[in-house]
Amino acid sequence: MIRRRKTRIVNVGPIKMGSKADIVIQSMTKVPTEDIRRCVKEVKELTDAGCGLVRIAVPTKADTAAFAKIVQKVDVPLIADIHFSPARAIEAIEAGAAKIRLNPGNIKKRKDILRIIDAAKMHKIAIRVGVNEASIRDLKKQDVSASGRVALMLREMKKYVRIFESRDFRQLVLSAKSSDTVRTIEINRRIAESFDYPIHLGLTHAGLPEDAIVPSSVALGTLLAEGIGDTVRVSIAGKGVLEVKIAQQILAALGYCRRAKVELIVCPTCGRAQIDIIKLAKKIEKALININKPLRIAVMGCVVNGPGEAADADLAICAAKNKGYFYRHGRRISVVPEDKIIKVLLKEIEKLKPANTK
Ligand code: SF4
Repeated sequence: MIRRRKTRIVNVGPIKMGSKADIVIQSMTKVPTEDIRRCVKEVKELTDAGCGLVRIAVPTKADTAAFAKIVQKVDVPLIADIHFSPARAIEAIEAGAAKIRLNPGNIKKRKDILRIIDAAKMHKIAIRVGVNEASIRDLKKQDVSASGRVALMLREMKKYVRIFESRDFRQLVLSAKSSDTVRTIEINRRIAESFDYPIHLGLTHAGLPEDAIVPSSVALGTLLAEGIGDTVRVSIAGKGVLEVKIAQQILAALGYCRRAKVELIVCPTCGRAQIDIIKLAKKIEKALININKPLRIAVMGCVVNGPGEAADADLAICAAKNKGYFYRHGRRISVVPEDKIIKVLLKEIEKLKPANTK
């Protein structure tokens, strides 16, 4: 139902990025890059969780040296995040980065940018031009309106991209981030209208997980629902694995991907609920934690509305007094006592092939 915005394809190592490819989830390592052992461990945790690309910060020469070693020890393409130093960009490219990220607010001299472009061309790697609202100089000095801020971010992007295009470099991915949800949506719409490069979506400095989930889901979800976005990163002040899980949930909610794990649907409960549904749902969630089938399981409080509302679930349990009615793909299959619900559910899951999931 959602039509992706058409883009050119950019190669990030073996990964294709753009409208003809799947949307790639990415995240960043959060341990010091020089700590190679922990960094490799974190990259592996992220990829096990479903992360397709991992970004690593390389602020120092020692970091790019560590980056070269990390590249050798992991299976996933790595992105080097460059801060202020053009030298770090060249080192990271030579160290085996599949993509580097440049912030136009930090690396500004044309001769430095051209040197980086030439190295990227030689090593056939991609570059993300990542405009960050907070790094735009004109915004630091002035009191600029929201639309003025968006216009300045777009101007910065256009100026920078022109340099790449003057060198006939098209392996570009674009991003513009703000910590403001509405401005993030607006600037990405403007970028989508102005360029045909893949877009990296993210809301920057979104906050602690409990504060970040809603604004990130609104910003990314709005844009993705409009077909904008080819790679996503959810930024939270928390574990990278959680960023990946939230990104997966946003993509799955829009039908962009199937969930890797069980999706548990629980009715909000009301006066009709015949058993403590929240308690039952928590027990079920715990019992399903290691099940890696993309199934949709519904836990409903009653047999009045439950069966209808859970009709598209692979399995539904609709509670009645001291018992649960089991439904498979909308058809009632059994009635079991309350204390046997989890045991029967696990048996039913074993038999089931996924169906009806988005
Ligand atoms: S499924 Fe039943 S108990 Fe749950 S919210 Fe709907 S009507 Fe209420």
